[in-house]
Amino acid sequence: MKNTLFDSIINVKGIGPKIKKHLEEKNIFNKIDLLLNLPTGSIDRRFCPKLDQLEVGKISTVFITPIKYNFPRIKNLPNRINCIDEFGKIDLVFFNSRENYVKQMLPLNEEVVVSGKVTFYKNKFQITNPDYIRSTDKGSDLKKIMARYTSISGVSDKTLQKIYSEESKSIDQIKEWHDNNFIKKMSWLSWGESLKRLHNPQTTEDINKNSIYFERLAYDEVFSNLLIFNEIKKRIQKIKKEPKVITDDNLKKIKSNLPFKLTVSQEKSLSDILKDISSTKKMMRVLQGDVGSGKTIVSLIASYLCLKNNYQVAIMAPTEILAEQHYKFFSKILSFEDFNIKILTGKTKISEQKIIRENLKSGKINLILGTHSLFQEKINFQKLGLIIIDEQHKFGVRQRINLSQKGTANTDVILMTATPIPRTLILTNYGDMDISTIDEKPFSNNNITTLIKPANKIDEIVKFVKSRLDIDDQIYWVCPIIEESEKIKATAAVKRFEYLKSKLNYPIGLVHGSLKKEEKEKTMNDFINGKLKMIIATTVIEVGIDNPNANTIIIENSERFGLAQLHQLRGRIGRSGKDAFCLLVYSSSVSETGKRRLKIMKESNDGFYISEEDLKLRGFGDIIGYKQSGEKDFLIADPLYHSHLFELAKNNIERNNKYNIKDYEILLKIFKKDKVLNIIDTG
Ligand code: ADP
Ligand code: MG
Repeated sequence: MKNTLFDSIINVKGIGPKIKKHLEEKNIFNKIDLLLNLPTGSIDRRFCPKLDQLEVGKISTVFITPIKYNFPRIKNLPNRINCIDEFGKIDLVFFNSRENYVKQMLPLNEEVVVSGKVTFYKNKFQITNPDYIRSTDKGSDLKKIMARYTSISGVSDKTLQKIYSEESKSIDQIKEWHDNNFIKKMSWLSWGESLKRLHNPQTTEDINKNSIYFERLAYDEVFSNLLIFNEIKKRIQKIKKEPKVITDDNLKKIKSNLPFKLTVSQEKSLSDILKDISSTKKMMRVLQGDVGSGKTIVSLIASYLCLKNNYQVAIMAPTEILAEQHYKFFSKILSFEDFNIKILTGKTKISEQKIIRENLKSGKINLILGTHSLFQEKINFQKLGLIIIDEQHKFGVRQRINLSQKGTANTDVILMTATPIPRTLILTNYGDMDISTIDEKPFSNNNITTLIKPANKIDEIVKFVKSRLDIDDQIYWVCPIIEESEKIKATAAVKRFEYLKSKLNYPIGLVHGSLKKEEKEKTMNDFINGKLKMIIATTVIEVGIDNPNANTIIIENSERFGLAQLHQLRGRIGRSGKDAFCLLVYSSSVSETGKRRLKIMKESNDGFYISEEDLKLRGFGDIIGYKQSGEKDFLIADPLYHSHLFELAKNNIERNNKYNIKDYEILLKIFKKDKVLNIIDTG
């Protein structure tokens, strides 16, 4: 018999074009999607009291006999039917019902089973619009525990239930893909049986996230996800490249040109990277480290060594300002050699862009820095040996694929990210890559004090700012992020700028997204070299900007930011070991959770701790920076709750790395991963 699980939902009995449309809005296209729409709750109808044991507010299933109809003559009044059993009485109340319907469902003096919520009104028990009515003669098909679903408009739970029972035959045909011993060890049932059980729960606990049925399905989703990453990784590892030669001499030379000594942690990550670039395997490595941990310098050393092997290097930053800053830093440190270093961003003149493209192609440019304009198809390299992407979480998955296709087998890749990612998210976001972590900072940042202030204390805040300026500190003032448009953001920033200028007798600058590149750049530079004592900015300063003399940051409407983002912003200060202050200003409309989140910021300076806590408060998927171009990563599994399943899946895949991917064909198809495999295969 043909497996019909992947057929369109239009083939399901009970689904017409109208319901189809509603379902498609919820991303349910074929039968399997429908089946994976798991219940989110259940109704327990196991309470079957006699009429002298009724409890108000409880869902109850009662065996009763209707004895009298009351059909009011006045419009809008409900129909009311008096019923009894041998111990008491109850009324069934129907709004908007026709008399005929009531008479047919509830013939007088014949016992029926009725289920619904019992209420008490004018000294009488009643059930209003009962969910379930059947004659006891005809036999009851009442489910004692009924699954409930998040509502899909136009589709009732009953319709869904019906559809699920129709489709159970297709489920039965699915063959087990895991080792039977493993399934036994976990006390799991087959995939199909677990799925059926979730739609037909026997107890209210069955549908909980920790039931064996739910976990079986969650595991499979996680497993399919990690399996794909493993496949990508396997395929990358098969690629042979020409190793880059690293000489002690070159390593010494670059290190002696640095303004400082590397930390132990930087050395360790560097050695991972050097091992990779000098091997015959293509490097795909994530370099993660909290803000200010000093990732740039590690990538600079790697770049230098590749350049010395006559390879080109490309470095990508998420913003122009950051690209600019890297450009200056790399140019300065590498000035002892004769490299041709250029920058390319969206704002580079067209004529200039053309020359840069030509020189990249001919190999005249050795090192190029830029924004995502480096992704353009038109850009070709002569001999690209290393790609570095800074602050990777700003780039989407698709951009990442584009990028890895830019180079050749000889192109090594480093992704740098400051968003500290909880372990389960590392597994799923970077499952195809190796990871190095810089877990210490060149300066301890116990020197940063974080304060939380309500917005109505603006006078106090301004006074504090003045006291900081008086002792020669420099200050970032971050204006509220407003979702709407760049223009509105700018207006808020301009207003604040005018206000602070009137209050403070110091040179103040203003940066926001609508300004011309030259203006922004000039202001930023004036701030960095100390001509401006304070800058008012929208979040354009968020990533990477480095001014060690700025040690105070004020963030307005801080409750609207993601914690990762706040942590990034706070990472702008305290970079020289001096005392630093971060003022998180919140508006009066802040929620309780909002306040708790700000407290986390106050309590901790540890990016990893902060992101784990934020995750607990807000749940996965909500955190800015993790969510990549709106793709929902998991349908069933909850990365926070099921982290043990991630570890389990990872270990199982590693232990049995000789598996045949064909054995998982159906599994991959169920979770729509088969398409990813096709993309990898066709390159
Ligand atoms: P991030 O990891 O956030 O990108 P950066 O690379 O911008 O951090 O480094 C933060 C600051 O620390 C920079 O000013 C950098 O020059 C400085 N720095 C980096 N490594 C060291 C070190 N080993 N010793 C002293 N200062 C360092
Ligand atoms: Mg950085």
